[in-house]
Amino acid sequence: MEITAGSHVWVEDQELAWVDGVVTSVNGNEAEVETINGNQVTTKLSKLYPKDMEAPDTGVDDMTKLSYLHEPAVLHNLAIRYGIKEIYTYCGNILIAINPFQAISHLYDTKLMDSYKGAQLGDRSPHVFAITDVAYRAMNNEGKSNSILVSGESGAGKTETTKMIMRYLAYLGGHAAAEARTVERKVLESNPVLEAFGNAKTVRNNNSSRFGKFVEIQFDARGQISGAAIRTYLLEKSRVCQISEPERNYHCFYLLCAAPPKDAIFRIVAAILHLGNIAFALEGEDSSVLEDDKAKFHLQVAAELLMCDLEALETALCKRNMVTPEEVIKRSLDPLGAAISRDGLAKTIYARLFDWLVKKINVSIGQDPDSKCLIGVLDIYGFESFKTSSFEQFCINFTNEKLQQHFNQHVFKMEQSVYQEEEIDWSYIDFVDNQDVLDLIEKKPGGIISLLDETCMFPKSTHETFAQKLYQTFKDHKRFVKPKLARTEFTIVHYAGEVQYQCDQFLDKNKDYIVPEHQELLSTSKCSFIASLFPSLNAETPKSGKFSSIGSRFKLQLQQLMDILNSTEPHYIRCIKPNSDLRPEIFENVSVLQQLRSGGVLEAIRVKCEGYPTNRIFSEFLERFSILAPEVLKENVEENVACKSIMEKVGLSNYQIGKTKIFLRAGQMAELDGRKAKL
Ligand code: ATP
Ligand code: MG
Repeated sequence: MEITAGSHVWVEDQELAWVDGVVTSVNGNEAEVETINGNQVTTKLSKLYPKDMEAPDTGVDDMTKLSYLHEPAVLHNLAIRYGIKEIYTYCGNILIAINPFQAISHLYDTKLMDSYKGAQLGDRSPHVFAITDVAYRAMNNEGKSNSILVSGESGAGKTETTKMIMRYLAYLGGHAAAEARTVERKVLESNPVLEAFGNAKTVRNNNSSRFGKFVEIQFDARGQISGAAIRTYLLEKSRVCQISEPERNYHCFYLLCAAPPKDAIFRIVAAILHLGNIAFALEGEDSSVLEDDKAKFHLQVAAELLMCDLEALETALCKRNMVTPEEVIKRSLDPLGAAISRDGLAKTIYARLFDWLVKKINVSIGQDPDSKCLIGVLDIYGFESFKTSSFEQFCINFTNEKLQQHFNQHVFKMEQSVYQEEEIDWSYIDFVDNQDVLDLIEKKPGGIISLLDETCMFPKSTHETFAQKLYQTFKDHKRFVKPKLARTEFTIVHYAGEVQYQCDQFLDKNKDYIVPEHQELLSTSKCSFIASLFPSLNAETPKSGKFSSIGSRFKLQLQQLMDILNSTEPHYIRCIKPNSDLRPEIFENVSVLQQLRSGGVLEAIRVKCEGYPTNRIFSEFLERFSILAPEVLKENVEENVACKSIMEKVGLSNYQIGKTKIFLRAGQMAELDGRKAKL
């Protein structure tokens, strides 16, 4: 479209990302634009995008219906829809969900569920139920497992979306109401328990999940839910001991304070609270003692709750065994060492309790060994970049790189394979592949995780030697940057942007290690439940103290997850957080755009735009548009010929005729609809 004086356009804006305006004059390859917020901007013509003046003021429910599919149009469409409380929008078969931060009436009620049952995607307004219905139907019809991948940054609404998926699946594949303790009820009821122990208030979200979750819902041949399994990933253990204002610890600690029940799980939670209050003071040159009577009191209560010997607990916190050829000597820890020991104990106990809960929930729900198909639902932390990004962010961003690759392969390769299947002419479009970042992180040997493990196994290593090793190894890697003057930081160029990591705690956080003294203490607890969380080590389990790596184990878990996902038909939901105040009705353009980029939505749109964003089976196309050329139906020609005639009559070109479908360029569908409307 040619841009001249009077054209309505979108122009870049620092604050709003894009703002609309009218071209007042054009000089060579530059234009002057008067924006609606009253600014005069001079800019290159190539940086302007045409604004669709005929676009409906309520927006379109699928980005592929936009007559002009470009970044400002996409953003504007989402913004106006959000303004009228339409939080869901499709981008092809990806669902974009913008957190409303308020309850929208009837958005999830049973009547609405009824209306989505069996409906084709696109027949009803975009909704998480629609995507779930497609997955469920595809599973039943094709006998193939499906998965729904929910992603987005903290507070974007992943967990709430996941709960709606579960509710809808329970509605579709649930049992008669008479059966009280059904699988689906148990799955739904597991949510509050997992949230109590795995969610916490953070600055980004009042109910932030501090672990990743993959729920596998199993179905029998009749499409009824017959079992389920919950897998969790990488619980943030450090939160048990380190919280920075105004964040909070896991909900269960506060629930306990509000209403102390009388059972073993809460005894452990209470013991952790008391452990946290034990302070140490320096004694002599490098030993530590309990700081005061308060510390003694907390130690005593903790010992009672853990049902272990008081002195043994104190020794386990303040001393370490040194094994010499002759004897075992008890060496004292200084107050800092004792505090680290105390926190290590608290974290280990909490992590074991969490794992136990997940296992218990899985046993209680029950698995169906005969199930052929499943629908997997993934609720996992989105891409993170903080002022101080550490090992946790490294693992989280590694996860996102993996999922992004999966997404790329799906969106891009699927797009192509449809073209190839239909044998249409299609010049290959390159997309940004992130295999090189994945190699940097996970390649064995030689990737960052491998180097970290090697460093951890070498007793004299420090975070400085680790950083040096990284700098040497990756000095020419284009995804790795050593920041200027950095001594222990490194930057990875992720698909969603650069993240600078601090090495300081990488070594400690990578070591999956229980202090043998702690293990010994708790395995002899008189509380059989606590003792069972710390089974005595026998020959089969790896020796305590022997190095085992969190990074490598996580990598393995992730690979297993990818293997499952690869065996399913995926569906994607991209959750967007419209503002960082967690308030309704505020839509911050710049941050939304960044999220659309991180989620691969913009990239998917680019590929769609360059190809054929819309396709229709001939008969469907004819049903919809033969009215534009009624004579073609009378001619008794082949369907594809009839489709061609319609396009020719309307004067559209550049479309493609495949074996069974017609492929339209961006905007052509809208053009055809427009012609129809004018009849
Ligand atoms: P995290 O990564 O921190 O776990 P998340 O993406 O899982 O974040 P949620 O906990 O699902 O985010 O959502 C944050 C909050 O936003 C919810 O507690 C709720 O208040 C609100 N919210 C999210 N989705 C919806 C919705 N569909 N309708 C109403 N409110 C919502
Ligand atoms: Mg969550």
